[in-house]
Amino acid sequence: MSQIELPVVDRPGPPGRDGADRFHEECGVVGIWNHPEAARLAYLGLYALQHRGQEAAGIVATTPDRGGLVGVNGPGHVADVFDVEKLDALAGCAAIGHTRYSTAGDSSPKNIQPIQIECKFGHIAVCHNGNLVNAHILRHMLVQRGSIFRTTSDTEVLVHLFAKSGQTEELEAVAEAVRQAEGAFSLLFLTEDALYAVRDPRGFRPLLLGRAGDGYVVCSETCALDLLDGEYIRDIEAGELIRIDGDGVHSLKVFDEAPVSQCIFEHVYFARPDSRVFGRDVYKTRIKLGESLAKHTGVDADVVVPVPDSGLIAAIGYAQATGIPLEMGLIRNHYVGRTFIEPRQSIRNFGVRVKLNPVHAVLRGRRVILIDDSIVRGTTSRKLVQMARNAGATEVHFRVSSPPTTGPCHYGIDTPLRSELIAAQQSVEEIRQYLNADSLAYLPLESLQDSVEEERDRYCTACFSGNYPLAVPEPDHARSLFGKERH
Ligand code: SF4
Repeated sequence: MSQIELPVVDRPGPPGRDGADRFHEECGVVGIWNHPEAARLAYLGLYALQHRGQEAAGIVATTPDRGGLVGVNGPGHVADVFDVEKLDALAGCAAIGHTRYSTAGDSSPKNIQPIQIECKFGHIAVCHNGNLVNAHILRHMLVQRGSIFRTTSDTEVLVHLFAKSGQTEELEAVAEAVRQAEGAFSLLFLTEDALYAVRDPRGFRPLLLGRAGDGYVVCSETCALDLLDGEYIRDIEAGELIRIDGDGVHSLKVFDEAPVSQCIFEHVYFARPDSRVFGRDVYKTRIKLGESLAKHTGVDADVVVPVPDSGLIAAIGYAQATGIPLEMGLIRNHYVGRTFIEPRQSIRNFGVRVKLNPVHAVLRGRRVILIDDSIVRGTTSRKLVQMARNAGATEVHFRVSSPPTTGPCHYGIDTPLRSELIAAQQSVEEIRQYLNADSLAYLPLESLQDSVEEERDRYCTACFSGNYPLAVPEPDHARSLFGKERH
């Protein structure tokens, strides 16, 4: 795979949520074609994809008389945005939906997707999982030519390219628009006559095709298909554009061939463990990561404790490989909302404890191996080590089921600045000291690549290896054109 070594500078990825100590997926998409309850199915699909974005959701559907498109969207979880009345208003037999993650403090409603416009081709709606690395260049060009942008989202660039196309056929106009985009994009376009699904030539983000009844489903992960009682047909290929219309599914290759660079972090953390992404069971891959972690970083201890929920499956693999029992020494509160009001009097580690609480009966007097999928800033991991010690653990060994994350992502994942990634700044021993752990070890990069077997060359590992498969924009230029917001 041809790769570009980026200089080690503080080059930001898409702007991160201030202070967040996790990477965040930046969107899930679902499209339904030819189903009498298309919007309801899209709604259920979004429920299954809620983990890919929790700040806003939207659905756009055709109308029963094919007289345009109608949409409902709003901030919050899927359950907050839709009710029976709103779904009843989306009565056509085709729909697309989107769950979105954006940065704190700038989740403007105008950026909620799907984006919907009317142009010479009629009505069109677009939703996107990914990040266009040349959006700033395209936006500048479009503004020079008179386009007026409504949002700060890079996705709107595609809408303008489509609307301004010199092509006369809708399909050609979609193809012309996406051909000009570079970066990560799993996209859905809905018009009055067709549903289009496109995956960028490197296939950074997942997208698959399935069936539900007599209709078709396109979605980010198979867990959405499962909830719809749907049947998996196949992945949309990297570089493939499909059009679904009254005559069925039509497939086109519209991009020049490029080396495939699927995101390996989907297997480590982003995708749900009950999904298949990139043709591979996420659960099995995570078990393998845990087994490899045990093989390379084993340590004598009494109990394996996952950091829930993200470290759970790798911890099962680790425990199975070592024979050390796995117990739930940390319990996650699943009912924590997006914000909470802290008490005026300080409670130690309040922010973490509202989400995770130690089980004293598991930790007291025992040598503990804590397992998590990654360490971003290190602040949460440090608090968890302290929490385990306070609960009586005699030793705390921290194990991470991925290599040190040393660089930001530019392909659709919300990451902090390189200067905020602890592994970009400190050695493993320095991080161990910061965490106050008895030992700390990460999964070697080689083992992470082994987990996807013979397909290792078809994966991006840039945030671990520094080998960025696509050049990225200079941050100041991109930000001056887009502000802080991403889709
Ligand atoms: S940089 Fe990391 S998170 Fe981004 S696509 Fe590559 S592997 Fe995935």
